[in-house]
Amino acid sequence: MFECKDVAEEASNYLDGDLPLGKRVGLFLHLVYCSCCRRYLQQLRQTITTVVVLRPQEQHQTDTQALAEKLRAISKTES
Ligand SMILES: [Zn+2]
Repeated sequence: MFECKDVAEEASNYLDGDLPLGKRVGLFLHLVYCSCCRRYLQQLRQTITTVVVLRPQEQHQTDTQALAEKLRAISKTES
């Protein structure tokens, strides 16, 4: 049976979908009666979502920098 410490250990695998079915079920059953771990997993999922959402923005920042570089070159030509 899953305990809270097991949930903490396997949480990231669980959210990644890397957990074998047997463990998934055990973890899920623990979540049914343990609101503490439910909250923990929810927070972890939010953190992961934030990281995933931030990645494209980092990419975008790089593009913006390249654009700023081009604009600077253009403005130099004009002045
Ligand atoms: Zn728990």
